[in-house]
Amino acid sequence: MRARGSGAGATRPEHLVAHARLVKSACPDAFLATTAMRGYLRACLPLQAILLLRALLPRAPRLLGNSFSLSLALQASATIPAPGAPFTLGASLHARALKSGFAAADLFVRTALVEAYAKAGRAELARAAFDEAPLRDVFLCNVMLAAYVARGEVAEARKVFDGMRERDLVSWNTMIHGYAVRGDVAMAREIFNGTEDRDAFSWSSMMSAYAKGRRSKEALELWREMCAAGVVPDCITMVSVLSACGDMGTLAVGAEVHQFVESNGVEVDVKLGTALIDMYAKCGDIENSLRVFHFMPAKDVLTWSSMVIGLANHGLGHEALSLFSRMTSEGLKPNEITFIGVLIACTHLGLVSEGKKYFSSMSEVHGVAPRVEHYGCMVDLLGRSGHIEEARQLIRDMPFEPDAVIWRALLGACRIYKNVEVAEEAMAKLRVLDPHADGHYVLLSNIYAQASSWEGVAEMRKTIRRESIQRIPGRSSIEWQNTIHEFVSGDRSHPRSEEIYKMLEEMMNQLRKAGYRPMTCLVLQDIDEQSKERALAEHSEKLAIAFGLLTTPARSTLRITKNLRACEDCHSVIKLISLVYDRKLIVRDRNRFHHFSEGQCSCKDYW
Ligand code: ZN
Ligand code: ZN
Repeated sequence: MRARGSGAGATRPEHLVAHARLVKSACPDAFLATTAMRGYLRACLPLQAILLLRALLPRAPRLLGNSFSLSLALQASATIPAPGAPFTLGASLHARALKSGFAAADLFVRTALVEAYAKAGRAELARAAFDEAPLRDVFLCNVMLAAYVARGEVAEARKVFDGMRERDLVSWNTMIHGYAVRGDVAMAREIFNGTEDRDAFSWSSMMSAYAKGRRSKEALELWREMCAAGVVPDCITMVSVLSACGDMGTLAVGAEVHQFVESNGVEVDVKLGTALIDMYAKCGDIENSLRVFHFMPAKDVLTWSSMVIGLANHGLGHEALSLFSRMTSEGLKPNEITFIGVLIACTHLGLVSEGKKYFSSMSEVHGVAPRVEHYGCMVDLLGRSGHIEEARQLIRDMPFEPDAVIWRALLGACRIYKNVEVAEEAMAKLRVLDPHADGHYVLLSNIYAQASSWEGVAEMRKTIRRESIQRIPGRSSIEWQNTIHEFVSGDRSHPRSEEIYKMLEEMMNQLRKAGYRPMTCLVLQDIDEQSKERALAEHSEKLAIAFGLLTTPARSTLRITKNLRACEDCHSVIKLISLVYDRKLIVRDRNRFHHFSEGQCSCKDYW
């Protein structure tokens, strides 16, 4: 403590003045003591409060006979950062409290005692002090709730919560937060719905519960509710909503959040900026993603990595790689995520030797150990460039047990290079590792069809039927007027279904005139040729596109999100649509973006 000369008393904080007077006094005054201790607590100096008390006690043992100074002492002991200190101090203060008879009756002391034990990590003592309380008010209960939630014991917290006669905003928020952190969306929502008493923290806890559980649709619904209720969102909420938008591919809502940020002058920190970059990239708007990136004043490794991955997934491999070299030349240390982007960029560009160099530089130069995902990228890179034997060797040499993703990457490469033998080897592994996914049966059947191995095709059909493999339904969605319109194959549930099917028919007629021939060999069901053509024409992405052509102005860009890989037929149909209808179409499938324009796709037919 530095005194600023004799006349500085008036400008010195009240607690320092009290401290000075206490030290001089022969008989320390309880009022001055509580003033000084409260001042130290407010200044986040709990140790000073305890040291002062210790210095005073020999002269004035009755100081702790005052419930107020006792509870302040307990609060101070609870916030001392030294390990073990809070417990020892708390316990000795507890003993004193018992002796003076205050702890039994005084709620102040009792609450501080429970908090001191809880913060010292002694939940059982906190609970005992809580149970012994003859009276429990909302503050005492909230301290107990927070103690359980901090330990992740939400069920215990719930028991206390259910037993509370009176609850306040803190009680409700503590429970919502407790369930949200555990990812228990349903329970968090139950508590959230149970009260009208909500603040920004209640909403952001609920929002992060949805984000954590990847319940993107519900997160977006909550955002709507929140806007309607006139709640001003905080940064945590916006980051969660943006991640939901990216997940669902809802550019309109994402842009709405960005608009809110801009028009309210919200400071774009690293987290919010990175979330915006990621959202725009995942919603197919790489231009705005780049714009946010360039305007961000501060960036961290996640910001750079998100941008590298975004560019790579959009097929802008050269841009991704030059951003990576800028990042390293600016002295930033790339991490695992950055290298995923770098390897994807090399894969989409077919840069085999560069990809190998980056891959070995991971551990040799950057100290980042490659994970199974990076090996997956390498298998994909080698396989797609036709180095199937080398990809197979890499799988044999890798230090992990290869997973289904790796074998699937190899199978995908076999489709491009019509390699039946290696495809069968990959399939044998996939049947063990991921027996219920239908995608690879379809892929292998396509490989047989391309190789005109009709026996193989028939065998795959039989297998799918015999092992009753559940086909994951393909879903495609398109955003129109701030709403996501989702379609499955053969979907007739849309209110404008009749118009959509008329449009689809017209669309297919136009394409036939332009030379389209349906690839009916891709249909695995045993049905006649005409039914096969219809089945192909009703694939979910074609329905979404028909809806898009119906509802949007001529020449505007259509953005489609698909949950699986697009089939060859859909891919070639979309290429033709971009030509015949003079439209840009941006399709996000499970792995990447396809930018269709003037009859071509940015993936150059490797996907
Ligand atoms: Zn299709
Ligand atoms: Zn493509």
